[in-house]
Formats: sequence, C-alpha cells, structure tokens
Amino acid sequence: MNPLASNNRSLAERDLRHLWHPCTQMHDHLSVPMVPIVRGEGAWLIDADGRRYLDGISSWWTNLFGHANPRIGAALKAQLDTLEHVIFAGFTHEPAIELAEELVRITPPGLDRVFLADNGSAAIEVALKMSFHYWLNQGRGEKNRFIALSGSYHGETLGALSVSDVALYRKTYAPLLLTPILAPSPDAYEGEDGESAASVAARRLGELRTLLERHAHETSAVIVEPLVQCAGGMRMYHPSYLTGLRALCNEFNVHLIADEIAVGFGRTGTLFACEQADIAPDFMCLSKGLTGGFLPLSAVLTTQQVYEAFYAEYSAGKAFLHSHSYTGNPLACRAALATLQIFRDEPVLERNRGLAAHLATRLAPLRDHPNVAEIRQTGMIAAIELVQNKARRQAFPAGERRGLRVYLHGLEHSALLRPLGNVVYFMPPYVITEQEIDHLVDVAIAGIHHAVRD
Ligand SMILES: *Cc1c(COP(=O)(O)O)cnc(C)c1O
Repeated sequence: MNPLASNNRSLAERDLRHLWHPCTQMHDHLSVPMVPIVRGEGAWLIDADGRRYLDGISSWWTNLFGHANPRIGAALKAQLDTLEHVIFAGFTHEPAIELAEELVRITPPGLDRVFLADNGSAAIEVALKMSFHYWLNQGRGEKNRFIALSGSYHGETLGALSVSDVALYRKTYAPLLLTPILAPSPDAYEGEDGESAASVAARRLGELRTLLERHAHETSAVIVEPLVQCAGGMRMYHPSYLTGLRALCNEFNVHLIADEIAVGFGRTGTLFACEQADIAPDFMCLSKGLTGGFLPLSAVLTTQQVYEAFYAEYSAGKAFLHSHSYTGNPLACRAALATLQIFRDEPVLERNRGLAAHLATRLAPLRDHPNVAEIRQTGMIAAIELVQNKARRQAFPAGERRGLRVYLHGLEHSALLRPLGNVVYFMPPYVITEQEIDHLVDVAIAGIHHAVRD
C-alpha cells in the first residue's frame, strides 16, 4: 500500500466523496477540515498525520473511561469469541440478564423493569410509547399528549424530536411532528435579574401546575433532562425543580420520564442526576455513557406497576410492541457490564469531584471577561456563555458562528472543543488529568479571545 494513502488529506478526500456526516452542513468542509482519527488513547484522539487532540467533549458525551480502554476492550474480546448476537425475543443471554440486574440495583428505587434498545433516541421512543400504552391499557387512551420543557433535547427521530425544543433540529421538520405542550424551562440563566436558581425553579413549578390543571386529563407524561439541558446549551437548573415535578406528576396522575441519556453515569456528580433531588421517575432513559462510549446501547427502566398494566392473556392485546433488530446485543451489554464494573472497583465519583473542583478553579478568572455572561457547572459539565454585550446579556448573532472559531482554534492547538452555538463547554472523559484540564482550559481561553474579536 502506498504509505501516503492513509494520511489526513487522502482519507478526508475519500470520506467527502461518499460519506454524509451528522449535524453537518457538508459545504462547510470546503474550509473546515475533516479529521480522520486512527487511534484513541485515554482522553486523546490521534489523527492519520499523528496529531493529537484532547477529547474535551467525550466524543459526543459517550466516553467515560478513555478511548480504547483496556478493561472494556478485554471484556469485549472475550464476548466476541463466545456470542456476538442473538434474537432477543424468545431468547436471552447472560450479559443482558446481568446488565438488567445491575441497572435495577444502581438506579433509584422502584425501577425494576428494563427494556433494551440500541440508541438514545430509540429509548425515548420506547418511553413515550410505553407511557401512552400504559394509560391505554387502563382505558385512558385520551392521555396521548406529552409535556416537554422549552430548550429541551431528547433526540432526533420523529417522536424524540417531537418532544425536543431546540429550533436548529426541530424547526425544519415541525410539519412531521407531534405537538407537545411546552412548559417553561427552569433554566437558571433565563431567570430575572438577581433571581436565585431555586426561586426560578419555584416560579417554573407554579407555571407547570397551571399547565397540568388545564391538560393533565389528556397528558401521558412530562419528559425532562434532569439538572442539565445539554444540547440546548448546557443550561442548568436547581434540583428542587425535580422534587416539585415529581410531586406534581403524582398529584395530577401523569408519568415522569427522566432522560438521563447525557447526564447519567456520574456526569453531574452523582451516579444519576435524579439522586440530587431524591426522586425516582416512572421511566428512566439511559444510553451514551452506558457502554463507556464503546458501542450503541440504550435502556429504559420502569416500574413493576407499569409492567403489570401490559401483563395479560395474549388475547387481551395488551403487549408492548416495539423492537429493534439489535435489541439487547450481547457485545454492547458486555461493554456496559465492564463499564459498570469500573464504577464498582474505582472511586470514580470521588475522583470526579476533585477534577470538577480543579476545572472550576481554572475557569474562575474568565468570569471577568467582557464577553462571558456566565460560567456554570454541574459536576463534570462546565459551560461558558459567550455574549456580545455582557451588561444586557445580549447574544452574538448565531450567523456569526463564534463557536466555530473556538472549534477551529482547538483543532489547531490539540484540543477537541465543540461549542453549542455561543456556549463553550467541557464534558471530558473521567480519566482526564488535572494537567490535561489545564491544557483544555488554556486552549479554550485563547480560542475565546480569538473568537470574540471584531
Ligand atoms: C444524545 C441525547 C439523546 C439522543 O441519543 P442518541 O443516541 O444520539 O439518539 C437523547 N436525550 C439526550 C438528553 C441526549 O443528550
């Protein structure tokens, strides 16, 4: 083989000839480089020219314990020689059984049933259908609407996109979607001058109550991203909102769906974000970090009560109908088990507390920057809100693509930072070191200075 055949440029050219990438205006690649990665190592990605990038966003929030993690890799290799896949209807296997046992053990109390799917959006589809079907099986088929929060993101298949409120993803496809009932987000950044996060949460609960008074009879579930609305710009809110939300869902007889796809598995400082409000949802959706970033897999956990509403003679026609070819894939389950084993063997959450504190200290000086409206952090998620005018909190026009400048600056300086609009954020793998955090923050600060000029 020609030794030059696999460097960055030739791989990028071949890629652009046939591939179509997600979340991308492909025309951008006339000027934005396509980066071919050949190897991963801890928190680092290495391209075909040997350049290294510190993965500040855990490769779309999936990676927890490093790229090519040897423990997860070894578990997968053993599984590869045993069983790669089997139909999951009528058949089962130990990796799925063990995974269900472990997920039931570690999630909030009452979540005793596990339904598997193969990506985050699919888990949302499952939760929405299951919630609706539960009410239908109870003779309450009129409960067929969902309440979602403004600024929320739950995925991009039609059902998941229906309950999402990020205009970039939703607007174009709106004619195809269900119409959710939108409740105002408890997002603390959107609070009034001087208003605390807790009082924003209380005010938003009051507004949700009004919506429920009007719509509970036709509402199946309220769906939320606990504590952090990630794709909506890493917007954060007070845990008391979740506590109040749980109480309202009970009072008005609607389900609570907690989408922990991004915030689960230690991201927010506790194993699951719901723990910080001491609540258990009726449905919990998990994916992303579930396999440590190795393979696509998702799980929907629900209660025995929900399960029992479907359990009847075949002729009653109450069975839950949803299947994917790769449901319960043994390789993915094995990767998940190896990932959860690391949580059992190592003081992950404690180590993350130290790393999160270090990140906070390093970001603090940016508070005085004239274009930084807010620095917010929940555990291993930190975000910097860039604005044109700090006093008025006036956003940069989206068309100026300031975040893209930070991204390009990062690539030039060995860091993968991928801002969401004007929000520069850090969501690194848990194996990152303090020195590596320093590198990420230094590159981000220089990138921000560069991005806000003229
Ligand atoms: C990423 C994400 C999803 C969708 O998961 P995919 O695997 O990308 O389909 C759903 N909800 C939240 C909160 C997410 O961050």
